[in-house]
Amino acid sequence: MDQPMIPAAKPIIGDQEREAVDRVLRSGMVAQGPEVAAFEEEFAVQLAAGRPTVAVNSGTSGQHLGMLALGLGPGDEVIVPSFTFAATANAVAVSGATPVFVDVDPETFCLDPAAVEAAITERTVGIQPVHLYGHPAEIDTLVRIADRHGLWIAEDAAQAHGATWQGRQVGTFGRFGMFSLYPTKNMTSGEGGMVACADEDLARGVKLLRNQGMEVQYANEVAGFNNRMTDLHAAIGRVQLTRLAGWTEERRRNAARLDEGLAGLDGVVTPVVREGAEHVYHQYTIRVDGASAAQRDAFATALREEHGVGCGVYYPTPVHRLPSYELDLDLPVTERLTREVLSLPVHPSLGEADLERIVTAVRTVASAGGGA
Ligand SMILES: *Cc1c(COP(=O)(O)O)cnc(C)c1O
Repeated sequence: MDQPMIPAAKPIIGDQEREAVDRVLRSGMVAQGPEVAAFEEEFAVQLAAGRPTVAVNSGTSGQHLGMLALGLGPGDEVIVPSFTFAATANAVAVSGATPVFVDVDPETFCLDPAAVEAAITERTVGIQPVHLYGHPAEIDTLVRIADRHGLWIAEDAAQAHGATWQGRQVGTFGRFGMFSLYPTKNMTSGEGGMVACADEDLARGVKLLRNQGMEVQYANEVAGFNNRMTDLHAAIGRVQLTRLAGWTEERRRNAARLDEGLAGLDGVVTPVVREGAEHVYHQYTIRVDGASAAQRDAFATALREEHGVGCGVYYPTPVHRLPSYELDLDLPVTERLTREVLSLPVHPSLGEADLERIVTAVRTVASAGGGA
């Protein structure tokens, strides 16, 4: 392998971001201040239909504070997918509540509404769908189920900035939507998160919890956290926000090129986009159809070592089986996906030659029996 490695993900941080940070450093005021306020407003307009939006220090904090502000606590159950990043369930568990893991749709990899409905008990208070890889969950159906049972919806839109379902942005359907600004996500602030809230009351609750329960200095109304975003991070995020739409276009173009190049390939299933969905391709995730985990891992190793194509497995273990939960549940679609999924590079830094190399590599490994 004499070609340079194509990385699986590549945060783009340029001169504009550096200059923005420098501007804040020179101001001498680096903690939460005017940059955070401006970032919240700009983010809300561009990605959350103008909903009151609160910046925090990570996506996980956003989920956690959002659910605490909704009143989540011990004895409550929240329905979550098991095929996701652990943070989705952790935000529920660290609130003292119980995440109830259910299965996902085999095509979109997002919550299966029928499985959600079957898991509702008298302790259920909410549903937390994940718009996984940048594809919207079937959110209108989930909202109908939630309304019918008097439950709230908290959207995990960590990977889905700008994705839409029937023309409406994800993160704006539920009581709140959380967006992550971690470096590998579609845009970053270094670390950070945004909570787009359905109303001002909830936004105020999140703001209080973010800052020790204070709106007025030293007049703490509730016991809260320090989960504030700094102006340094907000300055980076504001620049990234101006570039996001262009990057999303490039992700979509790259995905279309991969779709075309991998069409009809035996043993490889390319991502499905549901009618009414706009996918933002945080990940371009194929399934190595019928593979064992070892066969899929061998496929990944062959892509990396023989072809210099970076790739990733998100996620190799169902969350309910992690040592932190260790539940013996039967979620067959989730189990199967953890064995078969493989995410190929789709990020905006790819050139035509990279895309060609990725297609050729996947075709070569697949025809050789998947690296097994
Ligand atoms: C990244 C991510 C989170 C957590 O976001 P952080 O900003 O890393 O705390 C939660 N859920 C999903 C699905 C994620 O991908």
